[in-house]
Amino acid sequence: MAETAPRPTNFIRQIIDKDLASGLHTKVATRFPPEPNGYLHMGHAKSICLNFGIAEDYQGTCNLRFDDTNPEKENIDFVNSIKHDVHWLGFEWNGDVRYSSDYFDRLYAYACELIEKGLAYVDFSSPEQVRELRGTLTEPGQNSPYRDTAPEENLAHFEKMKAGEYKEGTCSLRAKIDMASPFMCMRDPVIYRVKFAHHHQTGDKWCIYPMYDFTHCISDAIEGITHSLCTLEFQDNRRLYDWVIENISIDCTPRQYEFSRLNLEYTVLSKRKLILLVDEKHVNGWDDPRMPTIAGIRRRGYTPASIREFCKRIGVTKMDNMVEMSMLEACIRDELNQNAPRRMAVLDPIKVVIENYPDDKIEWLDAPNHPNDENMGARKIPMTREVYIEAEDFRESANKKFKRMTLDKGVRLRNSYCIYADRVEKDAEGNVTTVYCHYDPDTLGKDPVENKVKGVIHWVSASEGKPARFNLYDRLFTHPNPAAQEDFAATINPESLIMVNGFVEPELSKGEALERFQFERTGYFCIDTESSQEKLVFNRTVELRDTWAKIGD
Ligand code: ATP
Ligand code: MG
Repeated sequence: MAETAPRPTNFIRQIIDKDLASGLHTKVATRFPPEPNGYLHMGHAKSICLNFGIAEDYQGTCNLRFDDTNPEKENIDFVNSIKHDVHWLGFEWNGDVRYSSDYFDRLYAYACELIEKGLAYVDFSSPEQVRELRGTLTEPGQNSPYRDTAPEENLAHFEKMKAGEYKEGTCSLRAKIDMASPFMCMRDPVIYRVKFAHHHQTGDKWCIYPMYDFTHCISDAIEGITHSLCTLEFQDNRRLYDWVIENISIDCTPRQYEFSRLNLEYTVLSKRKLILLVDEKHVNGWDDPRMPTIAGIRRRGYTPASIREFCKRIGVTKMDNMVEMSMLEACIRDELNQNAPRRMAVLDPIKVVIENYPDDKIEWLDAPNHPNDENMGARKIPMTREVYIEAEDFRESANKKFKRMTLDKGVRLRNSYCIYADRVEKDAEGNVTTVYCHYDPDTLGKDPVENKVKGVIHWVSASEGKPARFNLYDRLFTHPNPAAQEDFAATINPESLIMVNGFVEPELSKGEALERFQFERTGYFCIDTESSQEKLVFNRTVELRDTWAKIGD
């Protein structure tokens, strides 16, 4: 086997090592259990990397199981996007995709078993009454008047629930555990409710649906999952998980372990909030490059490897914390710095006319694709009499610190000649629109004999370059922890997307969607999925340097 990279270690892997060493398990089986009620986000990526990563490293298996017990909020588009995203991240699930709904018949039978054992009852209390009797964190709950119904009677009621004879909200099946338990989830939790809803997998077969806590542990046991990994908010529910497994006839005892959720600064990682951003059109859909969804991050230009690397760097613990966005950005920057071809693009153009350069001449100059990697080859770039440069690369006059072009100081056009400004043209507001220059024909690949230049700037031929739009992205929120704000949508950054129009070297019009580049001096970009030959659009993935870290300099 070629695999040589050291395995990550964390408390879950230590538990697995122990279970394998003691012989409790001979093989590891994990699962990733998304609910198909939205697109996957970076938090899910953490869980995917953990579950599939463990299966890979221990030669075990990881199932992809849709936890689909809330038909009203789920749909097949979400199912498909989730499958696509897991594959794109580079993982293969074990066998066919599974659905909790595959097990609805068995779940129903296990519910009947609990009823027969006197461990579940049909409660006809209204939802308000159930809530009132539940008690609080400091006060025990009280028993429901239906708690002591005989099993036969409960079975008949449950069958009627299944047959559609009871309206939604009029009754539910509850596990009979302990109304005085310090864990609220153990106070006779509802395990089935009536819902006349069409289901994306089972159609109209069912009008009762099992609850998460009842479904999840049994699905794990049916699939022979050994280590069921979930986030910390399910810590208390572990009691219920174990209670269900202990009280039904199933000969598999999966164990649940909890780890901390991923929280990322300046964004939200909760499907409920992400749905709101999409529905209220604060963003342009689930794959808006500002979204922390896998689809958004992909369209932004991130690679699967950069996301896996990020998940490796953040690790897995039981400690809640907030991860800086710069951690994620560093992962893609490190990767693209190594392997993104270099190109030139001008985002805020002013025209430069080189008056001693022949009018109809086009010189195709060699430009290396990577400064440190000859294997990446070179491409040709056209040099012409008129070129565009960035407005900020020219000042009429400036102090010595300014290394770019002024009226007294020449500059080198990257991979081309040295040019020297002679005069400028301005618009009505006094902004420079055109710089008239001359060039030194003896400076291709060598220094000028006199009039040495210090700066090197990027440029694009005005006649041969292609117009392009650049989407410049910033944090989606102005607050580092938007989820903690009363109205999180009020902290949306109004400047999270800035569109500018400029020019790119002609080579780029041949690129494919999501192809990634470093635009020299301006950042890492990818071709947007809606870009076309006629209308080139580039998304800035990340800036060349971490500009946020420099604030305060
Ligand atoms: P959300 O709050 O976004 O709806 P969820 O937990 O309800 O998240 P699921 O589709 O049920 O979403 O999650 C599938 C798996 O991904 C679960 O095991 C869950 O624990 C895990 N997961 C979800 N969000 C995160 C996160 N922020 N960090 C780590 N794991 C997560
Ligand atoms: Mg969930």
